[in-house]
Amino acid sequence: MSVVKKRKYNNDYIKNGFASIQKNGVDQPQCFICYEILSNDSMRAPRLERHLWAKHGALKEKQKEFFAARCDNLKRMKLDTAGSFAQTSEKVLEASYELLRLVSRTKKSHTIGATLVKPSLLKSTDIVLGSESKQKLSQIPLSDSTVKRRIDDVAEDIQNQLVTAVKQSQIFAIQLD
Ligand SMILES: [Zn+2]
Repeated sequence: MSVVKKRKYNNDYIKNGFASIQKNGVDQPQCFICYEILSNDSMRAPRLERHLWAKHGALKEKQKEFFAARCDNLKRMKLDTAGSFAQTSEKVLEASYELLRLVSRTKKSHTIGATLVKPSLLKSTDIVLGSESKQKLSQIPLSDSTVKRRIDDVAEDIQNQLVTAVKQSQIFAIQLD
């Protein structure tokens, strides 16, 4: 009888961009950028690194702290099953970006995300929908540092899109106002 050795999660994998999720008592690596769950057999640095480079090449220069922050976010979203976890965290991220967009439109300091928007949101939700819904919405990252990071992410994304578009076009003009 052959016994298949199960791989264990190691905190060093944070710098490869992976957290761990348990399925049927087995650790499986979960990417905390796209939330993809890989097999237990992929629980080794070269495999995880390959995912990071192949799917998130633009982020490869980022340091361990960046991943540690993402990992903290992921851990804060405590949910029971892998499926609803990924789904909810995607919604939470989407909400975070949408709220950021609203915050940026006010042309006020981005700190109002944490000081005004989130408390208002949670207070209303608690009153109208109850504490369970409030708990869910409290997962939406809107702290100063998160909003700052989102702004940087969005800026970087726009820059990448622009550079790609410029590279792909044969001619382009720059208009300055
Ligand atoms: Zn990924």
